[in-house]
Amino acid sequence: MAINDTESGSLYLTGLRNAHALEGEALQIMGRQVERLTSYPELEARLRQHIDETKGQQQRLVKILESHGTDSSAIKDAVQAVMGNMAAIGHSMAGDEILKNSFANYAFESFEIAAYKSLITMAERVGDHAAIDALRQNLDEEVAMQEWLETQIEPTTLRFLSLADQGQQAKI
Ligand code: MG
Ligand code: FE
Repeated sequence: MAINDTESGSLYLTGLRNAHALEGEALQIMGRQVERLTSYPELEARLRQHIDETKGQQQRLVKILESHGTDSSAIKDAVQAVMGNMAAIGHSMAGDEILKNSFANYAFESFEIAAYKSLITMAERVGDHAAIDALRQNLDEEVAMQEWLETQIEPTTLRFLSLADQGQQAKI
């Protein structure tokens, strides 16, 4: 019996595709930020690391989808108006871009964490036990990223203010 013979199974496959699209969105947002960052090298380095992790997350999702007969060339990411992408564009106008992006990045990781917790629950419910380790790896990377971002909110705020006081590039 194929997984999409049940309604819950096909909803699970939709969830996997949505996660793949969400990761595509994440790559765009982070890619745009690392190109602009100049005064926050630790953040830039961590974002570059998470970009690499995110590509791996997409590969794990593709493998799971392929295990259910989805041809990877058929995994087209719907153009999603996910909050973060619009936010990252809007923030480039702001004098406090670094802060707004810090808040948005933290929020984006929350969205991803919730999405993977939901997908793991679905995988268990529909019996896709082979997928669970890979989904947990994705979840663990999102949790680690969010924890790191949380530690950066206060130091980033202080650096932003002191760079601004010194008349240096503070907003990116
Ligand atoms: Mg991710
Ligand atoms: Fe993430």
